[in-house]
Amino acid sequence: MPARVLDGQQIRDRILSELRPEIDALAEAGCRPGLAAVLVGHDPGSEIYVRNKIQACHSLGLHSEKITPPDSVSTGELLDLVDLLNRRDDIDGILVQLPLPRQVDSRRVLLAVDSAKDVDGFHPYNVGALVAGQPGLVPCTPAGILEILKRSGIPIAGRRAVVLGRSDIVGKPAALLLMHENATVTICHSKTQDLAQVASQADILVAALGRPAMVTGEFIRSGATVIDVGITRLQDSTQVERVFAALPAKIEEFRRKGSLLVGDVHPAEVIERAGAYTPVPGGVGPLTIAMLMSNTVRACRLRRASSLPASPEVVC
Ligand code: NDP
Repeated sequence: MPARVLDGQQIRDRILSELRPEIDALAEAGCRPGLAAVLVGHDPGSEIYVRNKIQACHSLGLHSEKITPPDSVSTGELLDLVDLLNRRDDIDGILVQLPLPRQVDSRRVLLAVDSAKDVDGFHPYNVGALVAGQPGLVPCTPAGILEILKRSGIPIAGRRAVVLGRSDIVGKPAALLLMHENATVTICHSKTQDLAQVASQADILVAALGRPAMVTGEFIRSGATVIDVGITRLQDSTQVERVFAALPAKIEEFRRKGSLLVGDVHPAEVIERAGAYTPVPGGVGPLTIAMLMSNTVRACRLRRASSLPASPEVVC
């Protein structure tokens, strides 16, 4: 039986439509959640990410601002900007798009964001809350992974989950969330031995490596659920022809477009081995922005709880 496709766009649309009544209820109470995105420099990837985030705010009726300090910005100047945003009452969420230029101490800037406005979930306060299983703002991509699994009816409790990658942004928080859902979790990284063998034990395999198509059939237990977080743009035709040899429509798409997005999971071999999988594009990616919207609305509710009337739609 062919593997089931877990459609991230459909799940994103459901999450956004569930947010709308909550946003309407906040509006009736005089609140409009606001997101400030700080984008330094002209990294094309970052520009696209921020543009998509601002567009998502517009379509949901959230207030949003894109703030673009010059490439030469210093740590001190960014700290002043974050301080200003922390103190602004109309801003509920602050995101500082990474990477920041080399002269900036990224860690200090991220630490300066008020943990109540930390919609990316990177602040140590929120990291600690996640470790302890306490309420807090959870990083968007891992939160999206959990939404995909739960809303697709994939059982988690008691299952073996293997997370490939241990970054602070994806791998570690994804592993913690799976553990809180009572999966038995293994985290792998670049020093893990027999990676394919460890991965092939998984009922749920999460790939967050940043290594295009590295997760081949031998990594995947027959019938496993495979969540592909990786996203890389391939521009080299030899590489594209190797990875997509069994998918001629994709090679045709590459010829038309000149590049192709690929995940960390081999796009043809996952179809043969997995029970269910997220495609790239259209799997995890759409969820990241949906969860950012959800975090912004949540941050607004939590921060303004005392000034909101007690209403069934606006409970914190
Ligand atoms: P990082 O580079 O921060 O982390 C990669 C992790 O993979 C590290 O833990 C590293 O191990 C491990 N790793 C790398 N190569 C190997 C290897 N050959 N064998 C075993 N482990 C390896 O990446 P991120 O977590 O930030 O992102 C991962 C991918 O997800 C990227 O493609 C990124 O673009 C994508 N992404 C997608 C998002 C979305 O919305 N769809 C959002 C965020 C990220 P070690 O720690 O030992 O170095």
